[in-house]
Amino acid sequence: MRPSDLGCLVWLVCFALRAGFAQSVTKATHTFFLGEEKVWVDIYERAGADITLLNLHDNENTAVEAALAFIEKHGGRLIELRHGRGREIVVRLDGIMHRFDPNRMFSDVGLRASLEYFHNNTDEVFAIAAAFRDTIADLLGAKNGMVIIAVHNNTPYKMTINDFRPGEWYGEDTREVSINPQRDPDNFFVVTQDDLFAALSLSGHNVALRAQNPPDRGMLIDYCERLGVLYVTVEAEHGKLVEQEEMLETLWKILREQGKMITDD
Ligand SMILES: [Zn+2]
Repeated sequence: MRPSDLGCLVWLVCFALRAGFAQSVTKATHTFFLGEEKVWVDIYERAGADITLLNLHDNENTAVEAALAFIEKHGGRLIELRHGRGREIVVRLDGIMHRFDPNRMFSDVGLRASLEYFHNNTDEVFAIAAAFRDTIADLLGAKNGMVIIAVHNNTPYKMTINDFRPGEWYGEDTREVSINPQRDPDNFFVVTQDDLFAALSLSGHNVALRAQNPPDRGMLIDYCERLGVLYVTVEAEHGKLVEQEEMLETLWKILREQGKMITDD
């Protein structure tokens, strides 16, 4: 199945999030079908920072608020996946729901493994999920020189910076980890570049540096790395809006100090 067969309905809505902008934020909604299941992809944009923020997990809404506040202030683009099913995406066939994690779909190996994890690995489900993945990849348009920030939220102590230490869950995915015991371990960055790791660590944040050859889990971070994208994960506990906004601001400041951003604001 080709992405164009999924059926795409685009609504363009133009609105100002706050009065007084030189240019308002625009919002476009794309509708896709995964079998009988609908998934909406909202794309918010405002001129300014040449940066794309991405929210893959629908139940992580503090991250969306923080990302919107960021583009309100600096410009940029936010892509948000919406479907009301929680964290995973659903392919629905004859009323039966087949789940996969959208942050495992960015390689065939990872997508198969995620479908397997949820006991849904049939060729038909895989084909629909892979076509959806290709559509999202087209919308994202990841390429060399782009800056992509994935925004996530987590439940207290379910996934923390401590899971990136050697021998822990993400230990073999990680080259180096910097933990500030004064910080909430739920709030952390994952980066792929040494100098960004060093600067975020010096700023007192929790940060993990991705391994150069991590296991193929189909994660967005590795897909972006293969394409030469500057990629960062900004992960904060659900509801910690002020903290996540501060993390995005710190990242923004460092990206500019390191000359990684070209911006006209
Ligand atoms: Zn997430």
